[in-house]
Amino acid sequence: SGRFFIGGNWKCNGTLQSVTQLVDELNAGSVPDSVEIVVAPTFVHLDRVQRSLKSPFQIAAQDCWVSKGGAYTGEVSAEMLHDMGIPWVILGHSERRSLCREDDELVGMKCEYALSQGLKVIACIGETLEQRESGHMWDVLDAQLAAIARHTSLANWANMVIAYEPVWAIGTGVVATPEQAQEVHAYVRKWIAEHVSAEVADKLRILYGGSVNDANCATLANLEDVDGFLVGGASLKGPSFINICNAQN
Ligand code: 13P
Repeated sequence: SGRFFIGGNWKCNGTLQSVTQLVDELNAGSVPDSVEIVVAPTFVHLDRVQRSLKSPFQIAAQDCWVSKGGAYTGEVSAEMLHDMGIPWVILGHSERRSLCREDDELVGMKCEYALSQGLKVIACIGETLEQRESGHMWDVLDAQLAAIARHTSLANWANMVIAYEPVWAIGTGVVATPEQAQEVHAYVRKWIAEHVSAEVADKLRILYGGSVNDANCATLANLEDVDGFLVGGASLKGPSFINICNAQN
């Protein structure tokens, strides 16, 4: 539902030279009008990418501070991103949840604040292998969704997409099977219908992330409840990312 969405999460990667090359490769690529495409460079590369990357590519930050800026050394606030013309921000990525100890509540609060400042949000959820295998997957996803939903006003859902990124699939080469992805995506949509609204659920774009590449994207792209991808490693290679942007064709 909604426009197919492809996100490229560059994570903590890039040199001046590699970022320049990647932008050139993207600008040279051919992508369908029907797809919304957003790439997320590091904070230091955002300005350069914003100046050089052409339409239809949009940009995102990979995180932002939870509230209004001030005495928070090392942080970047949502209002700064908005002021700089950055339309999107990724929040709650599993690497931030695990390595930077961001919990469900903090992620929910970050979503609310970023949305209140006019940013659009790619909110990430997903279970670890241990949680899946021990039968806790649905509880984990429920708690992650509930924290986001608790803080998000009905009107702001139009400015949010959800990325389902199972932790065991991120950077491992182990992509979810079409059955696994569809099962969770359908569950997320049902959860949103029950806890937020049927209309929001219907319009919400639910992305899959975790070892998506140009060889496996086509089988996932046409699943009923997969409305796009959030791509890590393969988004650093221009031609591969362009192929993924064309996954539905
Ligand atoms: P990979 O595509 O490298 O597995 O990373 C997925 C991801 O974490 C995107 O946010």
